Amino acid sequence: MHPLSAVVQQPDFAAELNPEQYAAVMTNARHALVVAGAGSGKTRTLTFRVARLLADGVPSWRILLLTFTNKAAREMLARVGELTGVDSAQLWGGTFHSVANRILRRHAGRLGYQQGFTILDSDDQKALFRSLVKQFAGKTSKKDRFPKPEMLLSLHSLAHNTGRSWQRTLDEEYAHLEQHADTIAQIFEAYARRKEESNSMDFDDLLLNLVRLLRENADLRQELQQRFLHVLVDEYQDTNVLQEELISLLAAGERTSLMVVGDDAQSIYSWRGANVDHIFNFCKTYPDAEMHKIETNYRSVPAILEVSNVAIAHNSRQITKVLRPARPASKFLPAVIPAPDNRTEAQMVAREIDSLLESGIAGRDIAVLYRAHFHSLDVQMELSRRHIPYRITSGLRFFEQAHVKDVLSVLRLLINPRDEVAFRRLVSTFPRVGDATASKIWSGWLRVVESLPPDETRIASYSEFMRPVAVAPAVRPHWVAFLSFMDTLRPAGQELTPPELIKRVQNYLDAHLRTTYENYEERLEDIAQLARTVGDSPGLDDFLSQVALLSEVDQEVQPDDDCVTLSTIHQAKGLEWKVVFIIFLAEGMFPHYRVITEGDTNAMEEETRLFYVAVTRAEDRLYMSFPRYNGHSYDSQYCPPSRFLTTLPPDLLEVWEC
Ligand code: ATP
Ligand code: MG
Repeated sequence: MHPLSAVVQQPDFAAELNPEQYAAVMTNARHALVVAGAGSGKTRTLTFRVARLLADGVPSWRILLLTFTNKAAREMLARVGELTGVDSAQLWGGTFHSVANRILRRHAGRLGYQQGFTILDSDDQKALFRSLVKQFAGKTSKKDRFPKPEMLLSLHSLAHNTGRSWQRTLDEEYAHLEQHADTIAQIFEAYARRKEESNSMDFDDLLLNLVRLLRENADLRQELQQRFLHVLVDEYQDTNVLQEELISLLAAGERTSLMVVGDDAQSIYSWRGANVDHIFNFCKTYPDAEMHKIETNYRSVPAILEVSNVAIAHNSRQITKVLRPARPASKFLPAVIPAPDNRTEAQMVAREIDSLLESGIAGRDIAVLYRAHFHSLDVQMELSRRHIPYRITSGLRFFEQAHVKDVLSVLRLLINPRDEVAFRRLVSTFPRVGDATASKIWSGWLRVVESLPPDETRIASYSEFMRPVAVAPAVRPHWVAFLSFMDTLRPAGQELTPPELIKRVQNYLDAHLRTTYENYEERLEDIAQLARTVGDSPGLDDFLSQVALLSEVDQEVQPDDDCVTLSTIHQAKGLEWKVVFIIFLAEGMFPHYRVITEGDTNAMEEETRLFYVAVTRAEDRLYMSFPRYNGHSYDSQYCPPSRFLTTLPPDLLEVWEC
């Protein structure tokens, strides 16, 4: 009798798995690729495989499970615990970064680190970059508009994760920073030095250093290769070069077996360095590899599955798979909702969510998915109006985003010159202005405002009235430019419409936006959307009070279970909900206009995969909507329905009348 068989429960694998999943769970092949469509139980297969290995007596410390998030690993291991009764605490499960950290904790000494190195989180990194920018860009004449630390960090990280030099990454993706290349070089060198001196690593170093450690130290490599008898990887389609190298270093162990699980049709992270070729080439890299396909889908009702099958069929390069539904047919067809404009679209989504909640569906079973964060603006406003609790996994709530706050500050100050918070925010966008300077300028400003007659709420000429405000000579040019800009917001005493105002504010803040934030272009899209939404409000005062009230509603604390999820599709990877809404399915929005205009087939195929990921999150109900016009009174854009919708056979869908 096996020594462990007395304590380990034997799950009934054959009952819990279909024959394809069962074969993958039970295989003794040294290398195996499980490639299957969404919702076919890949993650479940990997979970059961871990259970099977433990049930077979493999010690948990000899298993390594690599997942997309640490939370996913925890959930999988909890399930393994339920299935086998084995405490899997010794098992190494988590993201590549967490595993790298674990190994480096013991062995980083070999790379010259001292015991107990620090991991720099993104705040620490930013702080370090900030001081380096001050040091190196402080003396150059270009100082005023030198890129902000966040942007340098993104460049630094993308270069690491795509295995490119930062110079090449700069050329290819950050061409607008080219003029600063020499200073950036100095900063990056100093950054590396500082990290070394302070015995610390950033997130990217964790992966890079681990790969280096294993490449350079045969004894350690062998030790790990001997330790891990089984390496298992979920979401393999989104591994980057470093992760791939790490997998192959570990899997090179004589007795190590490797199982990777993925869906080439769900590779959606190439912009962060993921490379779908790893899954395509798996059987070439490991010629003895066994390939398992799972062709049954357990997640979605047949009508949703048909839509997803058709959606992905257009992609040229893929491992062919057909998905058969396991679930019985439902009476609902996926709905297509053409709305006259973005606001109506949001109203329809919110109204439908309201009636789903009324019918007894829980908020946690509903998700609204979108390609870009700004697409969620109107839905956020509508849900708040209806007091429907939601949580956003794609980032900050729209109006909490720094660049949106920057723009709103100007509008607030225009209406209320006593708005200290708005004033400080704006003045701090000037180079070389910190808290102390902002306070001084604010006192001068306030003195002028207080000297005005009480009924004069608007300042007729900023340049003239604010002349007495004392500012240091170094700040003066920015101050003067700011005042003349403020004057352009009421040309000859005439009121501009809110969207026109926003346009001017955006032009004025352009250099600040460009150099302060990463994803400059996406932020411009946010601001354009802001202008459209303001354009639909009766007036600026009204809009600003609405925004303020929105944040009050936001602060109501809601139990997580009741919350509807708002998420980008990227963040929704691997997850599932009973009801899914995909919004903004319009040409130019999704697929993105840049991909359409550049005519890049690979990029378009990635958009298609993204749509496939979105559709396949839905279990019971799927709604796909688009606005015919984005914005209706200002700068409204006509939006043809997305090609992802128009290429679907009409008989698979129910089109709503609007
Ligand atoms: P994705 O590609 O989105 O990551 P996946 O292939 O990993 O999906 P899972 O999340 O493992 O799929 O499974 C999808 C759903 O189907 C889950 O709710 C899972 O519990 C269920 N499921 C999978 N296989 C079976 C099965 N044999 N019997 C019952 N339910 C199953
Ligand atoms: Mg999965």
